[in-house]
Amino acid sequence: MSELRNVVIIGSGCAGHTAALYTARANLKPLVIEGHEPGGQLSMTTLVENFPGFPDGIMGPQLVDNMRKQAERFGAEYRVGHLTSADLSQRPFRLHIGQHQVQTQTLIIASGASARWLGLPHEQQLIRHGVSSCATCDGFFFSGKEIVVVGGGDSAMEEALFLTRFATKVTIIHRRDAFRASKIMLERAQKHEKIQFLTDTVVEDVYDHAKQEVTGLKLRNVKTGKVWDFPTSALFLGIGHEPNAKMFAGQLDTDADGYLKTHNHVLTRVHGVFACGDVQDRRYRQAITAAGTGCMAAIEAEKFLEEHSK
Ligand code: NAP
Repeated sequence: MSELRNVVIIGSGCAGHTAALYTARANLKPLVIEGHEPGGQLSMTTLVENFPGFPDGIMGPQLVDNMRKQAERFGAEYRVGHLTSADLSQRPFRLHIGQHQVQTQTLIIASGASARWLGLPHEQQLIRHGVSSCATCDGFFFSGKEIVVVGGGDSAMEEALFLTRFATKVTIIHRRDAFRASKIMLERAQKHEKIQFLTDTVVEDVYDHAKQEVTGLKLRNVKTGKVWDFPTSALFLGIGHEPNAKMFAGQLDTDADGYLKTHNHVLTRVHGVFACGDVQDRRYRQAITAAGTGCMAAIEAEKFLEEHSK
């Protein structure tokens, strides 16, 4: 016999924790499934200075940990696991989490979007030490320094333009000489006096893991084959995000890039299934907006359960 829950929340980032807090306080005893990136994007950042309520800022991992403790205090249950498949064709919905089956009356999807990384030999070791996928989170720490942004889409242009507030110079490195970025964003970046471009160039590695800080990059020109070292204090990746929604393919609507489509903020096309946070938000992608939609999903789940228990 599989267990039957009122609410299962997939994901334990800002959206998931907030949904857990609200549904726990509504006495719904939510079950939160923590996947391979517990804490979500915030767990990969350092000081968060734009989450209201913390005048001196708060470390990202501390912020998500606080959220989790707050939800647990009201009875939210956390379980490490990986959602392998979901049957949303009838209620209760059936979820396969590893070897276990869980049935639930409502489902809140807060599985986030994972930043794409380059897969460089020393990239992961230098995350939080100069390698970042979030300019809004970490740009400030490189005031007065030279920064590299990788990518040729709107994210890379937006990150580079944002980083000019802090950096003395921003170099956009792109693997081709044609850009996916919209004309307006590309032109803005091209016209900016602090931004320079290196096209047809790929990053092969990032230095210096021994010093626990970014000191430079190993670059290669894909046309000439030339390899050289390029000094920089930070490496920001703007090569896109992957929404973690593949397990719902065919059952929920997604846009062309796989983000879950919602209406009325957090409602999906299946009654009783709600989506919040970065898995359905490609525009704002902030901790505070994820928390906001997590709250909305929780309130909708509560209302749904109320209406369907009559
Ligand atoms: P994107 O459009 O998919 O661009 C990703 C970029 O990263 C591409 O230039 C791609 O190169 C490059 N890239 C991907 N993998 C790479 C790798 N392994 N090594 C080197 N380069 C790699 O993603 P995005 O920029 O995040 O934008 C996603 C969507 O959000 C777009 O629709 C965009 O318009 C929208 N967006 C809009 C705004 C805005 O309007 N303000 C801001 C951000 C995002 P190739 O071109 O060679 O494939």
